[in-house]
Amino acid sequence: MSQLAHHRILLKLSGEALMGDEDYGIDPKVINRLAAEVMEAQQAGAEIALVIGGGNIFRGAGLAAAGMDRVTGDHMGMLATVINALAMQDALEKLGGKARVMSAIKINDVCEDYIRRRAIRHLEKGRLVIFAAGVGSPFFTTDSGAALRAIEIGADLLLKATKVDGVYDKDPNKHADAVRYETLTYDQVINQGLEVMDTAAFALARDSDLPLRVFDMGQPGELLKILRGENIGTLVKGRDAH
Ligand code: UDP
Repeated sequence: MSQLAHHRILLKLSGEALMGDEDYGIDPKVINRLAAEVMEAQQAGAEIALVIGGGNIFRGAGLAAAGMDRVTGDHMGMLATVINALAMQDALEKLGGKARVMSAIKINDVCEDYIRRRAIRHLEKGRLVIFAAGVGSPFFTTDSGAALRAIEIGADLLLKATKVDGVYDKDPNKHADAVRYETLTYDQVINQGLEVMDTAAFALARDSDLPLRVFDMGQPGELLKILRGENIGTLVKGRDAH
C-alpha cells in the first residue's frame, strides 16, 4: 500500500486544457506533459481514472447557438470527448502506461464500452482508465460524467483541473483583491453563488459526499503534491470542511 493521502482518484480535465496556445484541437506537447504527470502520480501508487471534456473540439450548446439541433450537437460533443480520450490513451501508452478508454456510448470498434466492474478491475490491475462520452446522454456535461463515474468507482477524491488555482470569492482575473478559499462546504458554494461545476454535477457530488478539489494543472507537479496530501487549490467537502 502506498503512503499517499488518496488511493483512487478521478481527474477531470477540460478539453481546453489540451489546446495549449492553439485555438482548437490538441497540442501534442501539452497532452504529453499532462500524461507524464498522470504517469508520475500513478507510479507513486495511486489508482487514477480520467475524464476529459470535449470543449477544444465541439460543445453541443455552442453548435445549437449556431443553429444545429441540440441533441445532434451534444452527440458531436460526446464524440469529441472520445477523440480526446483516445489521444490521452496514446500519450499514456507512449510513456509506458497501460490505459483503457471506456465510452458511455457504444463505439466498441475504437474503445471499450463502460462497464463499472470492468473499470474497477482495470484500476486494480494498474491500468489507467479514461471515461469518455460523459454520462452518455445529451444535455449533460463531462463534469457530470466525472462526478458520476467518481462515485461509481468509489474514488476518494474528484480532482477538477482548471486554469485558476482554486475557487475565489470573485474572479481573480478581474479583481486584484480576490481571495482564494482553502476549503468550502457544498452548502457554502451554493449559498455564496460560487461557480465550481455545473449544477447537475454539483448536485451529484454533494448528495454523495464526494470530496472535490479544484486546482491548476498548468502548474507542473501539483497533481502529485495533492496525492501526497498537500493543501493545494480549494477543497470542497460535503460537510464541515476543515
Ligand atoms: N456532452 C453530452 N453529454 C455528456 C457529456 C458531454 O452531451 O454526458 C457533450 C456536450 O455537448 C458537451 C460536450 O459533449 O458540451 C463536451 O463536453 P464538455 O462541455 O463537458 O467539455 P469541457 O467543457 O470539459 O471541455
